[in-house]
Amino acid sequence: MFPSLKTTVLAASLATIALPAFADFVNVYSYRQPELVNPLFDAFTAETGIKVNVAFLNKGLVEKLVAEGKRSPADLVMTVDISRLNAVVEAGVTQPVVSDVLNANIPAEFRDPDGHWFGLTSRARIIYASRDRVKDGEVTTYEDLADPKWKGRICIRSGTNAYNLALTSAMIAHHGEEATTTWLKGVKANLAQKPSGNDRSQVKAIYAGVCDISIGNTYYMKKMLENDEQKVWADSVRIVFPTFEDGGTHVNLSGVAMTKAAPNKENAIKLIEFLSSAKAQEIYAETNGEYPLKEGTSASELVAGWGSFDADDKPLIEIAKLRATSLKITEQAGFDE
Ligand code: FE
Repeated sequence: MFPSLKTTVLAASLATIALPAFADFVNVYSYRQPELVNPLFDAFTAETGIKVNVAFLNKGLVEKLVAEGKRSPADLVMTVDISRLNAVVEAGVTQPVVSDVLNANIPAEFRDPDGHWFGLTSRARIIYASRDRVKDGEVTTYEDLADPKWKGRICIRSGTNAYNLALTSAMIAHHGEEATTTWLKGVKANLAQKPSGNDRSQVKAIYAGVCDISIGNTYYMKKMLENDEQKVWADSVRIVFPTFEDGGTHVNLSGVAMTKAAPNKENAIKLIEFLSSAKAQEIYAETNGEYPLKEGTSASELVAGWGSFDADDKPLIEIAKLRATSLKITEQAGFDE
């Protein structure tokens, strides 16, 4: 049987990743964007001489690993969002990593007890509030977003986006499915416009006077401040760290997992360990505006200036496992309609 054209193309693209010029290499499938991870990989190569080959993907990462099976050239998977990390593990395409370095660098709540995934950075899902139209202390909790006082004043991206699903999952973890459905309907009733765009679009809408508060991840503030067009959006808002009424501020992760196939296992472990090192954690903090996880490292001066917060204490893995329920009730609530 001749391979189909599709198979041939796939084989060719894998050949390019599997046959690098360097003798020593490691292969990564990444949902994270090149500008976010390339500075880290460059630093790793400079330190170790090990080349990092990266296939950047937008979707279908789990399906690709499953289809490739034992022949997959991938050693590591890098992505944001605990549910995505968990999905890779649940598909059975990862293997545990045992490393004293990782156990020392990454706090226990940010890694899988069985070693199948490791968090590398965190980010808080916070409120961007209009400097002009929202007073200090006017919004302090996620629950409050459903209060009718916000009618027509909230902007948010799709409720089915991974970041929002994780927030909704955390709400379920705190208050249960029924109360969270009521909350979703309350937030929806307060929206100034149908959910669309990304986290930064919502801040643009605040700048334009469409709404007064929005929900977004912390590091987008840094991205907006560094962008000539978007700086005015950022300047029109301040960051509020909301909490759950009975908890803290919702955080999510970026992280890494080792594939079951991992043909370059030793180099892959070296790369994960490097990513958890003080040097890499500082690159994450300074370049990406994320919160480093390693003890003794800290957020960049800019990010630290936004304020401090207590991360919510619901285990991230519990949040990952509530994803399906979260998606179901978000759709049932007609959140995006
Ligand atoms: Fe993001």
